[in-house]
Amino acid sequence: MTEPGSVGDGTRAVRAGLPDAVKNEPTLPGPVFAAHFHLPGDVSGPYRYGRDENPTWTHLERAVAELEAPGRSDVSCLAFASGMAAISAVLFSQLRAGDAVVLPSDGYQVFPLVREQLTAYGIEVRTAPTAGGAQLDVLDGARLLWLETPSNPGLDVCDIRGLVDAAHARGALVAVDNTLATPLGQRPLALGADFSVASATKQLTGHGDLLLGYVACADAALMAPVRGWRKIVGAIPGPMETWLAHRSLATLELRVARQSANALAVAEALRGHVTGLRHPGLPDDPSHAVAARQMRHFGCVVSFELPSRARAERFLDALSLVDDATSFGGVRSTAERRGRWGGDAVPDGFIRFSAGIENTEDLVTDVLRALKEATD
Ligand SMILES: *Cc1c(COP(=O)(O)O)cnc(C)c1O
Repeated sequence: MTEPGSVGDGTRAVRAGLPDAVKNEPTLPGPVFAAHFHLPGDVSGPYRYGRDENPTWTHLERAVAELEAPGRSDVSCLAFASGMAAISAVLFSQLRAGDAVVLPSDGYQVFPLVREQLTAYGIEVRTAPTAGGAQLDVLDGARLLWLETPSNPGLDVCDIRGLVDAAHARGALVAVDNTLATPLGQRPLALGADFSVASATKQLTGHGDLLLGYVACADAALMAPVRGWRKIVGAIPGPMETWLAHRSLATLELRVARQSANALAVAEALRGHVTGLRHPGLPDDPSHAVAARQMRHFGCVVSFELPSRARAERFLDALSLVDDATSFGGVRSTAERRGRWGGDAVPDGFIRFSAGIENTEDLVTDVLRALKEATD
């Protein structure tokens, strides 16, 4: 076979993590449902008890490691029950009472709860917005810098390489939430980050039918406590979800390409009709310059504002190809009025739109028609 580093993303994605071909065996072995494995004699070997290891996880973990860091054998990956399980595993296994951590002030909506828990454990939490480099002002003495880029739902972007260099110079580790970009859109480990962490619930798996998360890292000593955390908390993925996730990776490049193109087309079509329009792929977006340097696809999310809550609700109602639902990254387009959750600092009419794999013209037509109906 060709060297893994030398092929295109689509080629890599269809084969990522597959075991060597064995006559009469399937290409991707089915999910292994096992609480325990045969273990005569001593306790050697990879598979002993189902909370520690499972062959279905191993296949997916190899696949994600290949996508996050093609051609690198030093990078390993651990699968978790959800994105939050993966995020918590890094935060709570790396930080101790008395440590300081820098979190995004505009990050995923569960972060305020995470912050409360970290603080309760005696960890000092500092925050900085994703864009603008303010992380540098609060980095001194921190043990870990957490980045989420592009941020969700604001779609701000930060310079991963620049912040990694600054953090490492001060002795801080860096973790990047790579959920929105996916490993095909952005490779945090190649940009120097210590951890790439993501919710595979979103575009990585893309069908809106499972929750899953992962942590990828090149340093075995940093990864050991993450693995230990998974074992003691038991935040393990089910074999069925894990297998479905692996199966979904084969189409990742097709989905990412179509969804990014659809998001850009929707954003271009919305221009002039809405305010606060954001998509890192728009040439005049405040995120574009940095995004263009570190991202290879700009993602499937577009955000914008309508003048009021009522107008936003009418727009969402009028859409026929777009489901009113939370989450993002799925093959079917979704949109929601983000303010309904109360967790993000967004205006009442703020919409987060996630482009699916529908035909571009159909999607754009539906969005413009719904916009017109909501305005009339
Ligand atoms: C959804 C999401 C998470 C949490 O992932 P779950 O799989 O829902 O636990 C974390 N970070 C980002 C950026 C997300 O969008």
